[in-house]
Amino acid sequence: MSNTESRAPDFVRATIATEIAQGRFDGRVVTRFPPEPNGYLHIGHAKALCLDFGAAQEFGGHCNLRFDDTNPTKEETEYVDAIQDDIRWLGYAWGDHLYYASGYFEQLYQWAVQLIQAGKAYVDDLTPDEMRDYRGTLTEPGRASPHRNRSVAENLDLFARMRAGEFPDGAKTLRAKIDMASGNVNLRDPVMYRIRHAEHHRTGNAWCIYPMYDWAHGQSYSIERVTYSLCSMEYEDHRPLYDWYCEQLGIFHPQQIEFARLNISHTVLSKRKLLQLVNENIVAGWDDPRMPTLRGLRRRGYTPEAIRDFIERVGVGKTQNLIELALLEHCLREDLNKRAARVMAVLHPLKVVIENYPADQVEELDAVNNPEDATMGTRQVPFARELWIEQDDFREDPPKKFFRLSPGVEVRLRYAYIVKCTSVVHNERGQVIQVNCTYDPATRGGSTDRKVKGTIHWVSARHAIPAKVRLYDTLFLSPKPDEDEDWKTRINPNSLETLTNCFVEPALAHAAPGERYQFERTGYFYVDPDSSTDQRVFNRTVSLRDSWGKIEKQEQG
Ligand code: ATP
Ligand code: MG
Repeated sequence: MSNTESRAPDFVRATIATEIAQGRFDGRVVTRFPPEPNGYLHIGHAKALCLDFGAAQEFGGHCNLRFDDTNPTKEETEYVDAIQDDIRWLGYAWGDHLYYASGYFEQLYQWAVQLIQAGKAYVDDLTPDEMRDYRGTLTEPGRASPHRNRSVAENLDLFARMRAGEFPDGAKTLRAKIDMASGNVNLRDPVMYRIRHAEHHRTGNAWCIYPMYDWAHGQSYSIERVTYSLCSMEYEDHRPLYDWYCEQLGIFHPQQIEFARLNISHTVLSKRKLLQLVNENIVAGWDDPRMPTLRGLRRRGYTPEAIRDFIERVGVGKTQNLIELALLEHCLREDLNKRAARVMAVLHPLKVVIENYPADQVEELDAVNNPEDATMGTRQVPFARELWIEQDDFREDPPKKFFRLSPGVEVRLRYAYIVKCTSVVHNERGQVIQVNCTYDPATRGGSTDRKVKGTIHWVSARHAIPAKVRLYDTLFLSPKPDEDEDWKTRINPNSLETLTNCFVEPALAHAAPGERYQFERTGYFYVDPDSSTDQRVFNRTVSLRDSWGKIEKQEQG
């Protein structure tokens, strides 16, 4: 049963359904996703994306992708391209509906002129500091700027000269003339245009005045005939402003519905902070597998299906809450469990020599590729006299309930034989560097009634492929880094551990970047794009839970 079917619609979908039934907007559903191209998309954006594209799809409408590119100094084509790529990866399409707020600059300018003519906007000379001072506070009304009552003619002249480049940055602004005493500070004569002599990634040097986000936002909907603007709660107080602009201009405006942003434990989701992590080399880039960006999650090995499932389970509400990272990982495990082929790989190798196994003999043993999916078939795994096992799977002095290998104790080698440890070899520092065993030929592939407590994985030393493995932990030790005094104080120094001396079974000789595997007992892994035929690199996507019990059950059950 899919999660969609088992769940009641969220309040946003319920509202849309009701309004369609009432015939609002003639039943049209057009949504939009409006990223600002000043960073890469992250898991929080995925929540907005899944709602914008998902709801449009479900109601037979469409979703526009609109870049809100009104700030020339922070935006780049690199981000525009990456955002499109990430949305496609997540499984959504916008068809022909790709737009840029910068495509509306001329129309927005004309509308601003219209407001000036109607006496609803004026050119101001206050500096940003003065303006802040005049704006008042939540409890005190603001004061009128001395320039508020300029004549329409003077405003038209000054605004045209602003556009023509006569004034330096910051010298003047165009402001809406609304209400300096409004209880909503967004309505205290908000700035519509500021002067920025800066090149824009799409319009080049055509403009030196740029619309404020709030001035561009609502009118963009109108131009695109968007019916539902689904946005996060912080825009609730901006809604009256968007509506005011459209009403003054006498143009169509959409229904805005606000929902709570996604917050996840042990991470930050502000683009400004993520950019800092990149710029300060705390991570290797926007696609570092520790980043909550879609790029990072993708390189970690996340599937789009797991992310969409997670977003569905989180749901859409109006209350802020913190979602545990564990839920995201749970969704991922569920998905990978279905699709990832199982293989054996040894991360911390320890040599095992089977003394009674002929030195030149090799047997090909049958191994199941995915117990969850019979169609994935079986493969052959070579077995020989010398093997690698995990260091952790051997203890010279085992504690109680240690069911793996130790002197005199038997263990099953997955898909192979029961072996017994007969002796160990130490190095000069007293560390175990080799474990000698004997095997019981009658126990091949589980063909015996004999029960042993433990089953461990292994790789034939002669056939093993060397590999590099990256293990990850959360980037932050703090569950809520945003609430720490300084969000960077509790960065996890051990968020990345690189193992350079691992061995994987020969089935992985041709593992290609982008493939996903389950390494039995140690987790799900993703073949990193850094991999080459000389050096295979695997990123641990997520560890397994409870793998031990499962293997026992499969083999003995
Ligand atoms: P910043 O971190 O700079 O505030 P932003 O989150 O506003 O950036 P945008 O590119 O403007 O970034 O976001 C595009 C859309 O994604 C917006 O509609 C925004 O509400 C939504 N969005 C961003 N972060 C989240 C989040 N954590 N949860 C849900 N929606 C989000
Ligand atoms: Mg924003």
